Amino acid sequence: MENNINDYLTNGELFSKLSDFTRIVDPLQKRVIEYRNKEVPINNIHCFDFWGKNKVCDNCISMRAYNDNTTYVKIEYNKDKTYIVTAVPYILDNRKVVVEILKDITNSLFFESLDDKGNELTGIHALIDSMNKLAFEDQLTGLYNRRYIIEKLPVDLLNATLLSKEISIIMTDIDHFKAVNDNYGHLAGDETLKNVARTLSGCIKRGSDWVARYGGEEFLICMPGADLETAKSAAECMRKSIERSVIEYNGKQFNITASFGIHYLKSPESESIDELIKHADEKLYLAKSNGRNRVEY
Ligand code: GH3
Ligand code: MG
Ligand code: MG
Repeated sequence: MENNINDYLTNGELFSKLSDFTRIVDPLQKRVIEYRNKEVPINNIHCFDFWGKNKVCDNCISMRAYNDNTTYVKIEYNKDKTYIVTAVPYILDNRKVVVEILKDITNSLFFESLDDKGNELTGIHALIDSMNKLAFEDQLTGLYNRRYIIEKLPVDLLNATLLSKEISIIMTDIDHFKAVNDNYGHLAGDETLKNVARTLSGCIKRGSDWVARYGGEEFLICMPGADLETAKSAAECMRKSIERSVIEYNGKQFNITASFGIHYLKSPESESIDELIKHADEKLYLAKSNGRNRVEY
């Protein structure tokens, strides 16, 4: 029979060459619903188990595909192999899921990816890591960026709901930051943001907590499982450390302060992430109107 390109495109042969295996995931719960491949990896309950990281991927393109209803692609690796991952949003039995198509590219990269013993070269892993980092890292401060907030907050929120755990969100904003720019220049302002980012990160003690730059001179700290007392002492640690630290730029020294708003949720199921952020913002606004350099909850 004559080879017809349409047959080739539709009979699955092309698809099988583009994919080594396919899996259906719930990106909110980070769970694999189903594996469709030749060899089903065992003990892969969570989607991230496959990458051998023991933690949720920072650059989760499935969450992005789920949120934006668009297909995303990235390169990722595990101990043995490098993959190109395509995440496609899909409705399965009235449930929104993401289909992840994984193609092993270990031996099909245009540069050498294995050493002479057949081990993956670590330089490539560093390259992939730095590419993935661009998606979730704030370039100035090195903290997580706003996109990370949008993708990680719903996951932590759902987790808290499913496990009946509490969660605390802290919003902070530098006081009179415009004056820093006006008095010392924009670069001094940038240095201040980097300094504050380091200070905030230094007050994070629990592995589950994370800090992100929400925008401008505003930051968000997420503390899954933290009660109000824990959040209050973290915010006080941050407030005092910022107040104490001396910022140096171009031979000049100055001090700043910041205001904090805490939103504590005992049972989070009733709130969306927009509401969560709004409520934390309201407390922050209260800290501003009550005189700044303070924590409100
Ligand atoms: P408040 O105490 O009410 O928060 O006053 P503020 O001056 O901190 O707040 P305002 O919103 O008036 O000013 C924020 C300033 O932050 C204005 C903007 O130019 C500056 N800014 C935002 N992003 C950056 C940045 O990346 N670098 C620098 N240097 N400045 C920034
Ligand atoms: Mg400000
Ligand atoms: Mg602000």
